[in-house]
Amino acid sequence: MIQKERLLKDFEAMATFGGSRSGINRIAFSDADWAGRQYIIERMIDAGLDVEIDGFGNVIGYKRGTNPNLPIVMIGSHTDSVPNGGNYDGVVGVLSAIEVVRSMIDDDVTHDHTIAVVSFMCEESSRFGAATLGSKAMRGKLTVHDLHRLVDTQGISLYDALKDRHLQPDAIESMEYKIPVKAFIEMHIEQGKVLEHEQKQIGIVSGIAGPERFYVTIRGHADHSGATPMNLRHDALCGASKIILGIEEVTSMQEEPPVVGTVGIAEVMPSAMNVIPGSVKLGVDIRSISKVARDSVVFLIKELIDVIAEKRGLSYTIEPISKDSPVSMASSMIKEIERAVTSLQLDYMIMPSGAGHDAMHWAEIAPTGMLFIPCRDGISHNSAEFAAMDDIVAGAEVLENVIRNISLVGNALD
Ligand SMILES: [Zn+2]
Repeated sequence: MIQKERLLKDFEAMATFGGSRSGINRIAFSDADWAGRQYIIERMIDAGLDVEIDGFGNVIGYKRGTNPNLPIVMIGSHTDSVPNGGNYDGVVGVLSAIEVVRSMIDDDVTHDHTIAVVSFMCEESSRFGAATLGSKAMRGKLTVHDLHRLVDTQGISLYDALKDRHLQPDAIESMEYKIPVKAFIEMHIEQGKVLEHEQKQIGIVSGIAGPERFYVTIRGHADHSGATPMNLRHDALCGASKIILGIEEVTSMQEEPPVVGTVGIAEVMPSAMNVIPGSVKLGVDIRSISKVARDSVVFLIKELIDVIAEKRGLSYTIEPISKDSPVSMASSMIKEIERAVTSLQLDYMIMPSGAGHDAMHWAEIAPTGMLFIPCRDGISHNSAEFAAMDDIVAGAEVLENVIRNISLVGNALD
């Protein structure tokens, strides 16, 4: 049985690593991150798992199945944090996974497939500007060149950060995880308000949204604010404002599957009280779990920009930043999680994940599923991040129910 008190103790212990009044600071490969990772390793060893560390520092704890030749069932998440972050993002997934295997050991559960609990390193992009790096390393997606190219604000490369932790950056290109994976599952806080709003305890993730990001620079004339009559202006900010509201409107019109659009950056030039804004640079982020829906919204947005600029005598340029593909969760895993949630009589909903997660990288090679639990007010990446122990326990019970089932030969996934 999942033991709430034992789990709570782990959360309290993790909060001491990098914890301060301004939040949790377990930035990837920092001393606090390493101390937290050590705590995870010790808990895995205490639980009787065989712990292995790969060249990137990822921690993999094995609970051996009765048939070592079968592919493994993997459960994973991360324990690094953003600056001044919370103690639940990622941590919920790792601690719950450990509690699941402890519970199975307590109950003397036998299973055919080996279960691997993974704590992935460097999931957050805060330090090196790229996310889910531990998963990427395990999936063979990083090169030595990447490790040199990714540099933090102090000028330390990921290559040197790995060296400093006595890991093997030079071996990164042969680090791909080679054991066949039967299924991957990750439990995570939602990092949004949907579950709380809908009063559901569990979210079953249908897919993970892929963002398309680009800059739009709108150019007009930076004329005198007093001497230029309204009909002779080419105000870049007024045009940009129409574009921002237009993005909101076009994105909201796409209902099923939903698309979300955000203009999170607006740089006004020259930004003076007495000068009509001459140019504005907008940073646009459009996401959906459907590539088709996202691409059609981006197409409409680009048309809209053209129409608004033309009408107002403005010029513009669009500069692409990134375009990641959305990832679908396996329907077999969605059904399997749904079966577990239903048997535990929990209120749930099926929902997309707007945020990226380690699970994205495993969906390419194995049936992959994710489950969400609510976090208070939808707050995450913030010191106010909080998930209730009852919700964590409910999520861990779902996880255990799924793992017990799929680690046996002859279940729905076979
Ligand atoms: Zn996370």
